[in-house]
Amino acid sequence: MAKSIVIVGGGSSGWMTASYLRKALKGVDITLVEAPHIKTIGVGEATFSTIKLFFDYLGLEEHEWMPRCNAAYKLAIKFVNWRKQGGHFYHPFQRYDMVDGYSSAEWWLKLKRNQEAFDYSCFTIPALCDAKRSPRYLDGRVFDEKVQNYFADGDRVPNAFLAEHAVQYPYAYHFDAGLLANFLEEHSTQRGVRKVADEVMEVALKEDGSISHIVTKNNGPISGDLFVDCTGFRGLLINQALKEPFISFSDVLLNDSAVALQVPVDVRSRGMEPFTTATALSAGWCWNIPLYGRLGTGYVYSSQFLSKDEAEAEFRAYLGPMADECKANHIKMRIGRTRNSWVKNCVAIGLSSGFVEPLESTGIFFIQHGIEELVNHFPGAEIDEAVVRSYNQTVAHAIDGVKDFLTLHYCVTDRDDTPFWQAVRNIKVPDHVAESVELWNRRLPNAKNTNPAYHGFESYSYSVMMLGLGHEPATSLPALDGMDDTNALEMFRNVKKRSEYLVSTLPSQFEYLTHVRQRARREPVAPEPYLYDDASQLWRELVALNQPA
Ligand code: FAD
Repeated sequence: MAKSIVIVGGGSSGWMTASYLRKALKGVDITLVEAPHIKTIGVGEATFSTIKLFFDYLGLEEHEWMPRCNAAYKLAIKFVNWRKQGGHFYHPFQRYDMVDGYSSAEWWLKLKRNQEAFDYSCFTIPALCDAKRSPRYLDGRVFDEKVQNYFADGDRVPNAFLAEHAVQYPYAYHFDAGLLANFLEEHSTQRGVRKVADEVMEVALKEDGSISHIVTKNNGPISGDLFVDCTGFRGLLINQALKEPFISFSDVLLNDSAVALQVPVDVRSRGMEPFTTATALSAGWCWNIPLYGRLGTGYVYSSQFLSKDEAEAEFRAYLGPMADECKANHIKMRIGRTRNSWVKNCVAIGLSSGFVEPLESTGIFFIQHGIEELVNHFPGAEIDEAVVRSYNQTVAHAIDGVKDFLTLHYCVTDRDDTPFWQAVRNIKVPDHVAESVELWNRRLPNAKNTNPAYHGFESYSYSVMMLGLGHEPATSLPALDGMDDTNALEMFRNVKKRSEYLVSTLPSQFEYLTHVRQRARREPVAPEPYLYDDASQLWRELVALNQPA
């Protein structure tokens, strides 16, 4: 087995990789090299529901890490103004119920299409989002009975691997990416990962083209058996040193730029929305990610249609006075994937491997997937080309699958009010996507007619996007015509009753997270003046709370 791993880069991908590999690979020496003066990307704060498995695998419970990262819950993405007529719909972390062999979405087409919005009819999560509820009761129980005994905090985890993931966990998280990297750095270094704060100046190759060592500015050469490139969009090892080409997705995904702002908010008076919002703007869309203490916001746009200054001006006008004092961070995005994420003895994880725009929050999911597959494909004494090929195919399937899913978000929208929206509607999509859309306009997506390669999204997500963007098949399934509707009507009544019950019994997300922070009983690292008028009083409160019981 490879005995020493050198990770270059200390952003989310570097520290997620270090902490996971530390746990997974016994007897392997792990070094992480990070240039203190080269900033991390500083965004990437909404996640995908499988992230729960990552923390479970590390043995970290929510009360341990969430308060340290100002984390909050995410139950869904709310899409706003993605249609000509405006309006919104939720894409929740929740599967459709099945009734007499058919999904609630199929029954909705038959029984409810002209009466109620599909998302509120089929899922309980939209009502929880509107009411800013927490997905957990104060005693820690998760609202969704299907997973209650599956992943209870404190229980032994039945499985923590994407490959075995059988349930749809009903929530993901929002967190401060910088604080998460700090937390995972502390976690990993306490468990034996060596950190070198230095800049890599050179990547030295062997005759066979593999990496022999890296050369750092102040600490000289560092060698290893396997190198993990977590240097972000620059792809210092994989693209620059090993010259592995990058495949751009700009033919179908036009957005290549973003402007991000962090807006402090008083969560006590404002409450906390347990969802990410993706609001369509003139040349792209903007995200809103509520954390405990601030909003992460950003406008993802296409530079073909908007300059940097125009984008910032439009976004500031949209945000209003609350963002007046906030500094804008402009980011150029490299959209696509490195042809092979694993080349010779170098594996790219994170932005160096691939990135599609953050519309469905998949950047961190790609990292988690890349790491888990690296463990599954970890080399023995020699690097085996067949195993490397399998890794590369698995990673490419995941990224390409998400690319197609995001392409769907644009190519079926009916917005045509600006040159950007006219352009995205007319994009020449790949034939397999066009064929699928043609079918899904007549029959809702299901497990048999959506991409079977693992890419994190199930068929229900495709169906939600088609219905949310207004593509209802003209008729319901003929097979339902002769069927008795009793059970389906009962199911719709139950969704409504259960939504009302949950809204009236679950605590607000603010209440629950405040409770979790109290439970954390940690030394406060710093007062958070924007949360309360009197920061010194908060400091005293936290110190009092952190006294051992
Ligand atoms: P970076 O954060 O760029 O880190 C690179 C590291 O490499 C740094 O530590 C740097 O110091 C180091 N480095 C570079 N050069 C050298 C050198 N020569 N020597 C030593 N060290 C070096 N993902 C999500 O899951 N959800 C989201 O909501 C989301 N939103 C996003 C929004 C935008 C606009 C963008 C661009 C991305 C978003 N992502 C999101 C993706 C997410 O931000 C990344 O996947 C994640 O932050 C990982 O980045 P990284 O660690 O690969 O790279």
